[in-house]
Amino acid sequence: MSIAVAAPSTARETMRPLALLADAGLEVPVLGGGRVAHTNLDLAASAPALATVARTVGDLLPWYSSVHRGTGFPSEVVTELVEDARAVVSRHVGARDRDVVVFTRNTTDALNLLATAVPGDVVVLDIEHHANLLPWRSRRLVVAADTIEETLERLAVELASKPAALVAVTGASNVTGELLPVARFAALAHAYGARIAVDAAQLLPHRAVDLGELDADYLVCSGHKTYAPYGAGALIGRADWLDVAPAYLSGGGAVSNVELERVAWHPSPERHEAGTPNVLGIVSFAAALQELERLGPDARVAHEAALTERLERGAASIDGVRVIHGFTDAPGRVGIVTVQLERGSVGLVAAALSAEHGVSVRAGRFCAHPFFDRVATRANGLRASLGLGSSSDDVDRFVAALSSIVADGPTSTYQRTGDGWKPVADDRPKPQIFRAG
Ligand code: PLP
Repeated sequence: MSIAVAAPSTARETMRPLALLADAGLEVPVLGGGRVAHTNLDLAASAPALATVARTVGDLLPWYSSVHRGTGFPSEVVTELVEDARAVVSRHVGARDRDVVVFTRNTTDALNLLATAVPGDVVVLDIEHHANLLPWRSRRLVVAADTIEETLERLAVELASKPAALVAVTGASNVTGELLPVARFAALAHAYGARIAVDAAQLLPHRAVDLGELDADYLVCSGHKTYAPYGAGALIGRADWLDVAPAYLSGGGAVSNVELERVAWHPSPERHEAGTPNVLGIVSFAAALQELERLGPDARVAHEAALTERLERGAASIDGVRVIHGFTDAPGRVGIVTVQLERGSVGLVAAALSAEHGVSVRAGRFCAHPFFDRVATRANGLRASLGLGSSSDDVDRFVAALSSIVADGPTSTYQRTGDGWKPVADDRPKPQIFRAG
């Protein structure tokens, strides 16, 4: 079997990280002793904090205090920060006067919240992440074609056949990284009297997004995919449905008055945000978005486009490795490359990439089973994903390690457990961050 390894980077070609992430310089143990630089190509699942965001959280911690109803000075500080963060998120995505920002735990939570408010059917494509398939109570499915054009036509046919309240579409596929032309989907949905929700979980970390420009009604996103892994997400969009929907969480903060027989609920966002908010998550999310604004969208796009091309070219050059695509005419992509292997188990390869080379990727069907099963010919894929902290060295290390494992197999012995493939003799020490007991 011939092995094609990516050409070594020349000084001019070398791309350094665009921003410092909290895991910069992290070394991970490998089998047989020793440590290597961590190659993190799993950012689409969860990204490390930006170093500036981690600093903001450190600065906030001494002030952490009760929020909204506290009378102490730290409470005033924290309350103001949460509301400032709401304004930053709103501005970052170009929210309009009619829109609200509801803080949630993540994209999944935001979509589940929106699902309680939609007064009718929801039309989705089969390419969606499960988070944008499963929450909808009255869901109608359109199987995407291998072109965006034909997919839009199929969507039009579905919308013409019966009115729908909402079209929910991803901004970027978490399997292929392919972008969808959201503005065109929005125009189509509106032409048939439906609103549109954009799943921006994979879009927001990589692109500037403006609800007004897209003419989109709702956007959902996750802090942990946007370099703020402290447990917050958001639903941003038109207030009217949300103002009359049942409270997503019932409890303190969502109400203006409670009598035993009668409750006066606030409008959104408070209506859906009962209980103590995730102050660290919310403030860090806004801090991350501000840092993305400071870096500027063009630099991000250029950095990631060059690395993604290098990643795809390197992976595709390996014998027995095939890159997966959903569309032949996607208008661009974010830094995600998923491959399938002609032979062998991707789970085993992913385990060996980590245990022998310190490379983190993802193996499986990426919580998008219907899409993966349609576009792939093997049961599972292997996904490498990158972002602001990625470099050409990361890409080259991954390609070289994948080439070697695909050609010669792993060096160590692995066994399949209920929890996936594991080294039979795993001598890698875990860091002592917290010890239960
Ligand atoms: N939508 C897409 C496109 C995703 O990639 C993901 C997560 O990978 C989600 C939704 C769910 O995001 P979360 O796990 O943050 O709720």
